[in-house]
Amino acid sequence: MEYTNIKKITKNVVIILEPDFWDDDTDKQIKECHSIIRDIRRHVDGIKYYEVSWDDEIVCCLCLGTPDPDETGMPQCCLEAQDFFLSESKKQDEEEAGN
Ligand SMILES: [Zn+2]
Repeated sequence: MEYTNIKKITKNVVIILEPDFWDDDTDKQIKECHSIIRDIRRHVDGIKYYEVSWDDEIVCCLCLGTPDPDETGMPQCCLEAQDFFLSESKKQDEEEAGN
């Protein structure tokens, strides 16, 4: 049997606005968002709160995949990243040995 003594309560009503960007540069897109907010606030009363948000993602510079390092720190995304990691680890070991 399913519990049926339930009702829907609507909460947290907001406006979500996604600009139609002309430029792929995300720094320019963030500036454009703030500019749009300034324009909205100049023309519309009753805005209690606003937020410009975006998602940041850590990606490998070599393949643009998720590095997904194993327990040693070795990236799993591509062989080039693993070569880079091994080379940097070797440099670090040599520096530590030199000190
Ligand atoms: Zn990679």
